[in-house]
Order: sequence, then C-alpha cells, then structure tokens
Amino acid sequence: MAKVALPDGSKLEVADGTTAGQLAEQIGTGLAKAAIAARINGELVDLSTPINDNADVQIITLKDSEGINIMRHSCAHVMAEAICSIWPATKLVYGPTVEDGFYYDIDLDEPIRPSDFQRIEEKMREIVKADKPFIRTEMSRAEALDKLAGNKYKTDNIKHADGDVISFYLQGDGFEDLCRGPHLPSTGKVGSFKIMSVAGAYWHGDPTQKMLQRVYGTCWPTQKDLDDYLTRLEEAKKRDHRLLGKQLDLFSFNEAAPGFAFMHAKGMIIWNAIVDFWRAVHNKYGYQEIKTPIILNEQLWHKSGHWDNYKENMYFTNIDGVGYAIKPMNCPGGCLVYKTRQHSYREFPMRIAELGLVHRHEASGVMHGLFRVRQFTQDDAHIYCTPEQIEQEIIGVIELTFEMYRAFGFEDFHIELSTKPEKHIGSDQIWDVATNALKDALKHKAIEYKINEGDGAFYGPKIDFHIKDCLRRSWQLGTIQLDFSMPARFNLVYTDRDNTEKTPVMIHRAVLGSFERFIGILIEHYGANFPLWLAPEQVRILAISEKSNDYAKVVRDKLKDAQLRCGMDLSDEKINAKIAKAHSEKLPYMLVVGPKEARSNTVNVRIRGDKETRTVVIDDFLRTVKQEIVEKKI
Ligand SMILES: [Zn+2]
Ligand SMILES: [Zn+2]
Repeated sequence: MAKVALPDGSKLEVADGTTAGQLAEQIGTGLAKAAIAARINGELVDLSTPINDNADVQIITLKDSEGINIMRHSCAHVMAEAICSIWPATKLVYGPTVEDGFYYDIDLDEPIRPSDFQRIEEKMREIVKADKPFIRTEMSRAEALDKLAGNKYKTDNIKHADGDVISFYLQGDGFEDLCRGPHLPSTGKVGSFKIMSVAGAYWHGDPTQKMLQRVYGTCWPTQKDLDDYLTRLEEAKKRDHRLLGKQLDLFSFNEAAPGFAFMHAKGMIIWNAIVDFWRAVHNKYGYQEIKTPIILNEQLWHKSGHWDNYKENMYFTNIDGVGYAIKPMNCPGGCLVYKTRQHSYREFPMRIAELGLVHRHEASGVMHGLFRVRQFTQDDAHIYCTPEQIEQEIIGVIELTFEMYRAFGFEDFHIELSTKPEKHIGSDQIWDVATNALKDALKHKAIEYKINEGDGAFYGPKIDFHIKDCLRRSWQLGTIQLDFSMPARFNLVYTDRDNTEKTPVMIHRAVLGSFERFIGILIEHYGANFPLWLAPEQVRILAISEKSNDYAKVVRDKLKDAQLRCGMDLSDEKINAKIAKAHSEKLPYMLVVGPKEARSNTVNVRIRGDKETRTVVIDDFLRTVKQEIVEKKI
C-alpha cells in the first residue's frame, strides 16, 4: 500500500500501482471526470502514471493553469497530427505552449496559408471526436536516437532533453510524437480551439538555419471561453496603442530614428502627469532624486561588467578619440554619485531615484510601437542599506509599487520570486539572507507569489511584479533586484557602527519599468479614455453658435484659472458636429454653452460615455472635477 497526501492535507491509502486517474476515481466521480493530469511529488505527470510509493498527489483539472497548459499542449499534438495527415511531407520540430495558446514549428516546403486553417481545424475536430488516447512509451536515449535516426529536428530535441529516459506518445494507433508530456488522457478532452496564424521562424531562432513555419493556435475549455478570448482580441485590436497614438496625436515614430519614440504635446501631458505623481509618491516614501549622464566612458562599463555581459545591446560613441558608451542602465552612474563622499550607517537606508534615459539595442524585427523601443525612460531607483534593513526596504518598495499600480486602476497583480541560479557570485549565506528577506517581506504583506527556482540573476535574487490589464493580458512592470556584485566592483563602502568599512547592500528597483511602454499599456488599458487626471484635454467648451463665443471665453478663463486643461470649439460647425468631434477625441467632459447658460452662469455638462446631460453652475462643476482629479478617479 502507498500513503497518498492530498493538497487539502487529507491522507489516503491506495494499492501499489494505483494510477493517478484511479486515485481521482477513489476521491470522487466529479473529480475523476474533471481530472486531466496529476502532480506527483511536485512533478506533472499523465493520469496513467502509477503511484508506487508514499507521495504527495494533486489531481490537475482545467481549473488549474497547469491544466490549461496541458490541454493547449495536447491540442498542439492534435494540430500536428492533422497537418501531417494533410501534408505527409511535414517534418515536426517543436510544439510548446505560449500565453493563451500554443504553436508548432514545422518544416514543410509548401506554405500553409490562412485559407488552409479551416481544413486543418476540420481534421483536428475529427481527431478530437475519435477520442484517441495519448499512450506513453519510454525508451533509453540511445534507442530513441536510433528510432529517430535521420530526423535532425527530433534527434536535436532528444539531445536537449534531460534524463536518460526518452518518452514518445502515440495518439490512438497511427500518429506518434516525441514528447516528455504530460498530456490529456485522450484527444476527446481537448476543448474549443482555433488556428490563429502562421509565421516564419528560424530553427533555434538562428537566421543561418532554414526558415520553418510556425503555426499558432489557441485552445479553451469551452466554446464560450474561446468566443470571449476572440472578442478580447478584437477589442485589443481596436485599442492598439499605435493606432490610438496616431489618431489622438500622442506620439509618433519616424524612419529617421527607428525604435525611438517622438512624444507629441498631448503625449507629454500624460507623461508629465505620471512624472508628477511618481515624484509625489517617491517623496512620500523617502526617496531623493538624482540625474546622471547618458554618455559615460567605456572604462566604467568594463568595471560594471556590462562590457562582458551586455555589450551586444549597447550603443557606443567617441569623443575626442576616447571611447564612450550610451548607458543601458543607470546603476554605474548612480554608483559614481554614491562615491562622491563618505557614507555612514546612520544615513541608511538611502533611497536614490532617477528617471533615467537608457538605450538598449533591439533587433528591428521585434520593435513594436511603444512596447519595444530602443530608447526609454526607466523609473529607476537604487537603495543602499545594511543586510538587516533589506526586509523593511522590500516592504516599502512593495507598498509604493501597489500604491502606484492602484492609482492607474490596476488591481490584479501577481508576483514572482526568482532564486539562486547555479552560476552565481556571493556566499550561500548572503543569498540566504537576501532570499529570506524577500520571502519574509512578501509574507509580511500576506502576498502570494510564485517561485522561479534558480531563475535569479547571477548577482542576486529578485521579485517581479506583473499586472493584468482590462483585457486580462499580463504585463511585467516592476522589479526588485538585489545585487551582491556592483557595490564591490565599484568599491562602495560605508562606515558601520563598529567604525569599520563595509560594503552596502544595493537594491535596484523599478515600478513602472519604462515610461514609454507604460504609456502604451495605459493607452490600451483605457482604450485612450484616460481618467481625468491623465487626460491631455480634460474639458472642451462647445459654443452653440457664434453668439455664445464670448460666454465660452468667460467659462474657459474660469477653468484655466482653476488649472484645468481646457479647450474651446468656436468653429462654424453645428453643435452636434462639435459634440461628435469631441467624442471621437475621447474628451472626458464637454461643456455646451448657449444663451440660456450665459444668462444663468451655468454650463450644460456632457460626460464621456454618458448620454444624459445636466446643467450646473460653473462653480459646482469646478468643485466636482477638481475632486475627481485629486482622487484620480478611474
Ligand atoms: Zn507533448
Ligand atoms: Zn540599477
């Protein structure tokens, strides 16, 4: 008998060799029906896997994100079978999951076109309907290499696989694919799917290799989930920040500077509103602000380690015959400021912020509006402290980060902690202190997080902050990175309580990440319907006819005095045309004024997205909107 511990803490005895699927049946028919895979002692496995020893077992269903991924990956195999049956010359390469779906790289000379998608989907539906079991077989590495001799892609996959046991999966009776699994018990469990696109992709991303075809698909538990996802995609297209940015005159790109954004006047209003807010919050949390040069001598980058580890992403220049680099990060410059004078433990923690303009090379193919650019402003800061202060500082950064995200209406965040990688510097003791400080800070804030074991930088552990936008897309924004390397490389010291010189702990952190990218995210999150505090033009006064122009100007002056960003439409257009124009420009407030309003010192208020209008006296209107701005109402 084997003793099984379930996630809820309950224990169960099962006969040796009981499979995870049979265990699910013992627990209950509901669970058995929903079960698609299992986690035995931390490892995801097929339901057909036997439990031979005492083990922790979790039955995985489609309610778990791992379950969704297993279904999507299984769907990739179904798509592979369908493609192979239509084009028998297809050579399969690799079929992983990606966010919201999966892809399969294939080598096939004949191009697959969008007009083929339906045919592939029909074939896939047949395979799903046939409810073929995924049957696992295992063999040694040598046997597997022998079996796939001549297939350069699959033998390469075997070379990249861990362990000595190589597994294959047979779908029913005909189609077999090399894969480590796990998969659904059978193809019938694949939910609702759709093939989305096909693109070229080099094998291993290497342009000297053959261009493969990468076929993307998506798969969801139900048709409704799939429909919702497709609706969200449509909505995302409408919200594309590149289109809205152009339409609303916020920013542009020019071939004179590929990957470098030109922020226009209206875009800068948003930018500056964020900067003002950023400064106020950082001031509240005890930060000081500095500014360091963007061009710094090459020698500094040798010292910082960037030359050896980051050179391909950097730009260089030459001044009077001396080599300089354009900074990709702000830290070395920050270290130079630190070194301009002596420091004592009494000053710690020192929180030094910088809105730093950095340049990082991106290949021309991956640039994407404001999301991927070559020059951006990072909302950076470096905290210098003692090891004992790490936890409290991390708590402070987490609080500041959440406060900032919430102000923009982001309530759904998740956090990932990356720990010590195999290749690292610094003693195990300092790693333990730092990693525990990060964990304790998260525990203190009662925050759940995911651990990425061994995924930290070689110089320290880190926490990443991810937010979800209104289309449920996830964005990594903030980072807290501990650094055991740079303070020593730059000989940073402080005088400790016992009068000895010590190396401070350095914490790098960014909250929004890149201003450019963050503004791109905001444009899409709000669909450019910016909350009042960010809106480039907050109010527009629309005169019913020329006769009311003078009163419009009186209202405009009052609004300007109240420091509202306000425009005026005194054109000859009919009032309905003026309203339509202001709507298309996503104005939060429109004030229609005519003779009636002029007589009573009122304005007729139209709120964005609201059909109702109401007439109020100007002072009341001012009070309401000023309150809305102070509260940063979304
Ligand atoms: Zn697989
Ligand atoms: Zn830094």
